Amino acid sequence: MSITGKTALITGSNSGIGLGIAEELAKSGANVILNSYTDSDDDHALAERISKETGTTARYISADLSKGDQSRALVEKAGHVDILINNAGIQHVAPIDEFPVEKWDMIIAIMLSSVFHTTAAALPMMRKAGWGRVINISSAHGLTASPYKSAYVSAKHGVVGMTKVVALETAKEPITANAICPGYVLTPLVESQIPDTAKKYDMTEEEVTQKVILERQPSKEFATTEQLGGVAAFLCSDAAAQITGTTISVDGGWTAL
Ligand code: NAD
Repeated sequence: MSITGKTALITGSNSGIGLGIAEELAKSGANVILNSYTDSDDDHALAERISKETGTTARYISADLSKGDQSRALVEKAGHVDILINNAGIQHVAPIDEFPVEKWDMIIAIMLSSVFHTTAAALPMMRKAGWGRVINISSAHGLTASPYKSAYVSAKHGVVGMTKVVALETAKEPITANAICPGYVLTPLVESQIPDTAKKYDMTEEEVTQKVILERQPSKEFATTEQLGGVAAFLCSDAAAQITGTTISVDGGWTAL
């Protein structure tokens, strides 16, 4: 079965990995719904551009996924969801004993609780349609840890656990749930960490990229948003119908170390 005409909701998709996945799924024929917490002309223009380029329908729906009711309302406003990509995310880096409580709450709300809410709201739609795909964007940090990222690592491990539960609850249905675990991808989320790290270690930004950021990625290359889009499209294909409850690493060998 192709994904032509299916509706894919991609959270946090006005930038980075979410946008890359939306573009790739639209190229494969899916109608896509973009989302972030803003509601600007640029956000809606992104959807228009994707529609024009692919001949599919693309819409933008604003929702702040730090709020449970808005997470559920996003799915309701979408009207129907065949493919749910839980991607929205933020980062904050600090030692655990100095980690601001409001940052902890925000990261867990956006990256873990919203996945619960959107999945709970979308599964009945998938069941009614008799087909569905839940794809959660976890991280190499959903399988391994780094210091100073307590909230991020906790949320990403939590998402891997939730993915397994959803897979078991839907195992006898034509619905799958999987998590993609990227290593480093050069997106605004990562780029924004480079200047501070350069200052902290008294390095150039290029040195930070090679020696700090890509230090754990044996390929010494960033994964790309196009590659992640391709993996998401594969998980929507018939070839992946029996792949459920698992993680797919796209990390240049990080988790093989
Ligand atoms: P990004 O900053 O480019 O994108 C994050 C997206 O989430 C943006 O669209 C942003 O607007 C949205 N978002 C943030 N807060 C939101 C909120 N409250 N409500 C709705 N949307 C919100 O970052 P990215 O690198 O593309 O990250 C996307 C996902 O991939 C995240 O879950 C991130 O943890 C994960 N990831 C990224 C990398 C990487 O190296 N870039 C690696 C592993 C996993």
